[in-house]
Amino acid sequence: MQASSKPILVIGGGVAGMTAAVEAAEVGFHVLLVEQEPSLGGRVTRAHRYFPKMCPPTCGFEINVRRIRQNPRIQVHTLATVEEISGTAGAFKARIRIRPRYVTGSHSLDDAALAQLTSERDDDFNEGMSKTKAVYLPHDMAYPPLHVVDREALSDGDAEALSTLCPPGSVDLDMAEEEIEVEVGAVIVATGWRPYDATRLENLGFGRCENVITNVMMERLAAPGGPTGGKIVRPSDGQAALNVAFVQCAGSRDENHLPYCSAVCCMASLKQARYLREENPDAQATLFYIDIRTIGREESFYYDLLEDDHVSFVKGKVAQVDEVADGKDLSVDVEDTLNGETLHGTFDLVVLATGIVPNTADVKIPYELTYDEYGFVDGSTNVEGIYAAGCAKRPCDVSRTTKDSTAAALKAIQCLQGGE
Ligand code: SF4
Repeated sequence: MQASSKPILVIGGGVAGMTAAVEAAEVGFHVLLVEQEPSLGGRVTRAHRYFPKMCPPTCGFEINVRRIRQNPRIQVHTLATVEEISGTAGAFKARIRIRPRYVTGSHSLDDAALAQLTSERDDDFNEGMSKTKAVYLPHDMAYPPLHVVDREALSDGDAEALSTLCPPGSVDLDMAEEEIEVEVGAVIVATGWRPYDATRLENLGFGRCENVITNVMMERLAAPGGPTGGKIVRPSDGQAALNVAFVQCAGSRDENHLPYCSAVCCMASLKQARYLREENPDAQATLFYIDIRTIGREESFYYDLLEDDHVSFVKGKVAQVDEVADGKDLSVDVEDTLNGETLHGTFDLVVLATGIVPNTADVKIPYELTYDEYGFVDGSTNVEGIYAAGCAKRPCDVSRTTKDSTAAALKAIQCLQGGE
């Protein structure tokens, strides 16, 4: 194959896609970075902090955004999906659909003025635990730093009001969907993951008991920009959560749900137990686990918590979570497998460590690729010129995702240079 000057198409603008894009662009390659949401960042931007150093997501994200903003070789398309890919390595064609933002970017919008709107929508960035106006900035760190209009949520009255609330030309409700066709030399699949649907874990009470939440919801509760300003509280009454159960392997390592280990949720719960203990020195955390899986140097993250007498570990798979008869507290039934005793604990909040499902389990890449039985892209893909990175391939944390994405960028570069 001859060297190609065509761009690399990166599908997915989370940490995996952003990393692959900057690594390829900074050594001289053109990149098209395509993200289906209104802004870049993906799941990592929703975390309060990420391990093992407990950095806030602003750390890595702001650096990556700066690298993207300053690099003219990276072209970002948000609200965009890749609908079709044809061709072969070095000469792919991709058709990209770009949904309308309805905000032109000619002027910035004023949130104080937009507060007068009455139409609202569930804030998906806060896992539905708060609302935004129908014209909203996706989150504080959003890149591009542009508002977006949720056209379905916007009432006719509010649509009319926008002409007085926003600078002329800044909102265009007639903006239409676009399609573009591009020629690219290689493709990186960085489509990421979604949490397992906890409502399918009927015995664990999510959706049935108000004070059962998931680990991704816990991240938003702990985040200063989250729905409670960083306070870890019970959804039922807004009271501080003082006695919290963490239920590990909620859906993972279970033949009826996800048979594999989701790799990050032990570390996530250990981290969240720290959030709780840092916020309130009287708070008690109990982790119910099958095995505690921490990898490599992260082992100390677990051992440090063993020293904390307000954190308990119970080896056993939780069988049932219910509301107690006279209120919103929660009963947790589990068999402690180390001593064979059946325990019935009462807690004021239960956090389910739900697992990782690849987004490709739901929506496949429009090219013939091989997937495993769970929807992860099989290996680095079986196709020359198309490389998968991060959680598109298997569950992995931020640190492993960035290394994997750098490797995918290298493979794409080698392909463009005729090295395969
Ligand atoms: Fe279970 Fe831990 Fe694996 Fe998550 S990382 S599936 S909680 S063993």
